[in-house]
Amino acid sequence: MSLDNNTMLSDIFDISEQLYREMSYTKGGDHSRIFEHLTNLGKTLAEADRASFWKWDKNNHTLWTTAATGAPRITIPDTTGLVGKALSEGKVLVTNDPYNNPYFNSDVDKKTGYVTKSILVMPVANIKGEFIGAYQVINKLTGDGKFDEKEDCKKLSLAAVICCLALESDVFLEESYTDKLTNLKNRMGFFADFNKTYNAIINDTNRKLSLFICDIDKFKLVNDTYGHNAGDEVLKHVANIMMENTSENDGMYRWGGEEFIMIMTDTDINECAEKAEKLRKIIEASDCVAEGNVIKHTMSFGVTQFDPAKTIEENISDADRKLYTAKESGRNRVIA
Ligand code: GH3
Ligand code: MG
Ligand code: MG
Repeated sequence: MSLDNNTMLSDIFDISEQLYREMSYTKGGDHSRIFEHLTNLGKTLAEADRASFWKWDKNNHTLWTTAATGAPRITIPDTTGLVGKALSEGKVLVTNDPYNNPYFNSDVDKKTGYVTKSILVMPVANIKGEFIGAYQVINKLTGDGKFDEKEDCKKLSLAAVICCLALESDVFLEESYTDKLTNLKNRMGFFADFNKTYNAIINDTNRKLSLFICDIDKFKLVNDTYGHNAGDEVLKHVANIMMENTSENDGMYRWGGEEFIMIMTDTDINECAEKAEKLRKIIEASDCVAEGNVIKHTMSFGVTQFDPAKTIEENISDADRKLYTAKESGRNRVIA
C-alpha cells in the first residue's frame, strides 16, 4: 500500500498541530520533544521502518540523535557514517545495498540483529540555507523495499522543510520569551506559559495556584548613585537568586523593569508568602558587587492565590495592590 495524498496531508496536519503544542517548551536550546515529532513525520512520509533526525553540533564536531522511541541521546563524530557523508557533501544519499557501502556503520545491526536493507539520508538546512542536521530513514516498508531517489526525496523534503521551519520557530519563540539581561522569561513568556500550563491548573478544582509580584526598593537610587550598568548588575544578581530558588513546577519571570513574578503550582497563599519571605531575607542578606561597589538592596512583595472567578489580569492586579501596600508601609516586606 502506498501513501496517498490525503493520508499524507492529514499526517502533516496532525504533526503540525502536535509541533505547535510542543513549541516554547524548549529549555536552553533542547528541542528534543520537537525532534520526536519531526522524526515520526519523516518516518511516515518516507514509509520507512525506522527514522532518526541527526542534529549537527558544529562546535563540537558531532552529530546527535534521540530516537523517536525516546531512547537516550546517541552522539557520534560528524565525520562518520552515511549521515556524516551526506552532510559533508550537502547531498542526499540513497543506498539499497548498505552492507556493501563503505560509509555504512553496521554496529547497531550486529548488536541488535536488525537487518538494514535500504537507507535514505537527507540533509536539512535552516532558513539561511546552512545545514543543521539530516534525516535518516531506514528500510522502505512498501513496494520493493527500496527507496526511490526521486519519489522518496520529494516526500522527505516536505518533512525537511517542516523540520526547518519548526526548529527555527522554536528558537525564535524561545528568544522572544526570554529577557536578554537576566535570562529569565519575560512577560510574553509568562502569558505563553499561562495559556499552556497554568490556566488548566486554575480551572482544576483539585489544584491551587499562587503568585507573588516583587519589586526592588528604591532602585532608581541605585541607578542614580552607581550608574545604569551597576543597576543592571543588581538586576542580574536578583534574577540569579530568584532562579536558584525556583523549583521545577514553578515559574519565575521578569515582569518588567525591576519587577518579577513567581508563579507557584499546587501552592496556597500561605505557602507562597513563606517562599516570598524566604527570598526577601536572602536578598536582604546578599551583597551585589558591581563596578567595585558593594550594593545593598531590598525588595517588597505582594502575594495572591488565584481566584478562578477572576481574569488573570484581575488576579495580578490583586497581587500588585498588595505590593503597593508593602511599599506604602515601609518597603522590604511581604504582604499577603
Ligand atoms: P520603589 O521602591 O517605589 O519601587 O522605588 P524605585 O526607585 O525602585 O521605583 P521607580 O519606579 O521610581 O524606579 C524604577 C527604576 O528602575 C527606574 C528605571 O530607570 C529602572 N530600570 C528599569 N529597568 C531597568 C534596567 O533594565 N536596567 C537598569 N539599570 N534600570 C532599570
Ligand atoms: Mg522599585
Ligand atoms: Mg517598579
